[in-house]
Amino acid sequence: MREVIQELAERFRAAHYALYVVGGTVRDELLGRPSSPDIDLTTDAVPEAVKPIVATTRPSAIVLVGERFGTVRLLYTQPTREATEPLPDLIVEITTYRSEVYHSELTTADARKPEVVFGTRLEDDLLRRDFTINAMARDPLTGTLIDPFGGQDDLAARVLRAVGNDPEQRFLEDPLRMLRAVRFAAQLDFSIEPATAEAILLQAPMLEKVSKERIRDEFNKILVSPRPMQGLRLAVDLGLMPAIVPEFLELRGVGQQPGGRSKDVYEHVLRVVHNTPPDLAARWGGLLHDIAKPRTRTVENNQVHFFGHEDLGAVMARDILRRLHFDRPFIDHVARLVKLHMRSDAYAPEWTDGAVRRLMLDAGDSLPDLLALSRADITSYRQDKLARAAARVSELEARCEQLREEAERVPIRAPLDGNELMVIFGRGPGPWLKPVKERLLGMVIDGQLAPDDKVGAEAIARAMLDAGDA
Ligand code: ATP
Ligand code: MG
Repeated sequence: MREVIQELAERFRAAHYALYVVGGTVRDELLGRPSSPDIDLTTDAVPEAVKPIVATTRPSAIVLVGERFGTVRLLYTQPTREATEPLPDLIVEITTYRSEVYHSELTTADARKPEVVFGTRLEDDLLRRDFTINAMARDPLTGTLIDPFGGQDDLAARVLRAVGNDPEQRFLEDPLRMLRAVRFAAQLDFSIEPATAEAILLQAPMLEKVSKERIRDEFNKILVSPRPMQGLRLAVDLGLMPAIVPEFLELRGVGQQPGGRSKDVYEHVLRVVHNTPPDLAARWGGLLHDIAKPRTRTVENNQVHFFGHEDLGAVMARDILRRLHFDRPFIDHVARLVKLHMRSDAYAPEWTDGAVRRLMLDAGDSLPDLLALSRADITSYRQDKLARAAARVSELEARCEQLREEAERVPIRAPLDGNELMVIFGRGPGPWLKPVKERLLGMVIDGQLAPDDKVGAEAIARAMLDAGDA
């Protein structure tokens, strides 16, 4: 990666243009974080001039990212060292210096409609960036760091501070920056400097003006960050949540037990999200698994119930994720986690193989995330309770694994198929077949009929037909 930057820098110099490493790439370098595969560069060359210069470095693709944004994206396909270990592709984004002028009418769905004015000075380009720690540049040929706004000091103090002296104005220009502040706080374990936090609090309602796709992408980064709990709390406390998942706010103050002693649903859910592995679907499952508890809560005989919260929760999860424009398979997957979480949580050693098979069948590809969610969904403070619950999930996992291996050896199917049934009973195809086939398959799944027991299957089918069940 360094070689690519070095080579690009030399080409730009030969063409009498400047080229700097900038933004997140410089920040991560100084933090000693593993840098993301996207490298941010900036130059005084306009995109039309950039293209011929970069072409000689043989990128596998050169893409202009919206001419009006003035970014040229290069893709370098890395040589694979070994067939088993392909390196991720390198993405280099070269943005022409700019000083943006924002339209004041933030009424459109996409609030970020900048009128790009290409600049001639690096300092002006850094001035329009969001936070001081993201507003530094480094000359890759000399190593010189350009840091006009004290980014290094803020990095050392682990502080997020809006660039310029009017943070409110910066958030008005692009309200997504408020959510980015929370994202960096969660990712980097930084705090938000008081004047910047104050400005977010004041401008938070403006986040509604930002497109749902941009909100979703930042929020996803908060969820999979090392500190999702802090990120979620900050988003709530700074007033950003109404534009993201407003239903999440309902969880506050909802007691899980009569009286005020137990954790409320909000604290429980934060803890579950924290407990899940940093995988997007599992984290969303954690966030939404109890989302319908406030709307289903009842108290009977001094007992708190949330009847059907998993079903209503699945409906609400679909709604929430659809609103944020997630794709259909992702929505289905997370909704399934919400719908099934009570079943996997309720696993007990007495379960029959049939019951375990049913759960596997209903969970399908979502099973690993469902088990991860059940593991995370134990937030007791008592060590013995935690250990017992964890052991239960492990046992369920082991039984699933064992049944899967068995099913690979002897596939789960009814002993008699449609053709065989038609021959045995001398009847043609028709609606009588379906209930018989379903019953036989159901009995195999439940372990009441062996997959190769043709005689037993025939007797069951005959009894059904005689009784007029089919
Ligand atoms: P990541 O590690 O996710 O890539 P990043 O800080 O590099 O984090 P990018 O979205 O890649 O984030 O943006 C690159 C740089 O562009 C940022 O570091 C920042 O300087 C600037 N930038 C990005 N989005 C904005 C914005 N909405 N407003 C102002 N500057 C921004
Ligand atoms: Mg970046």
